[in-house]
Amino acid sequence: MIGQFSVHEGLAGTGSENGGGGLTPPNQQLKSPGMAIREIIILPDKKLRLVSKPVEKVTAEIRKLADDMFETMYDAPGIGLAAIQVAQPLRLITMDLAKRDEEGETQPRPRVFINPEILSASEELSIYEEGCLSIPEYYEEVERPAKVRVRFIDLDGKLHEEDAEGLFATCIQHEIDHLNGVLFVDYLSKLKRDRVLKKFAKAARRAVDE
Ligand SMILES: [Zn+2]
Repeated sequence: MIGQFSVHEGLAGTGSENGGGGLTPPNQQLKSPGMAIREIIILPDKKLRLVSKPVEKVTAEIRKLADDMFETMYDAPGIGLAAIQVAQPLRLITMDLAKRDEEGETQPRPRVFINPEILSASEELSIYEEGCLSIPEYYEEVERPAKVRVRFIDLDGKLHEEDAEGLFATCIQHEIDHLNGVLFVDYLSKLKRDRVLKKFAKAARRAVDE
């Protein structure tokens, strides 16, 4: 059975009750004076196609990057961000799916995934409408494995293995794709993909001209 849901890395789309982008930044207690919003790179920035390098050690610099990525992600607002989206080619992902929790959970639940790997994926597929902070205001349905087993390191350098399903499964696959230079539009038909790539290339040229 194929589930139909929607996942927007940037939730600017449907069904928002609070008028703005579906996610209000719930990050008050996460703020520390040093945190900074970084610029999110968008199509057709070539850096989005880089293969990111593994994080060798969780240093103060990596923690600072994760802090800034949360600040940037909540501000956007979005539910997931890969380091390359703030122009850092490192295998680091921030995520907070709290707003989409089945129990109606609204407390922030920031999670960091360092050097994440997909160990196995289900044959069962599910379809979500995806969006991406690096491809603003564009949403399309993408079919991916419904469940994946993921291995990653947390900010304390501890190794974890976890089963992901539902929104979490789709989001972690979308973000790991970023670490490999893959974008969700790559899963679309050539016609649709060419159309969106052309649109963003044109917008970038227009921005330069102005
Ligand atoms: Zn994305």
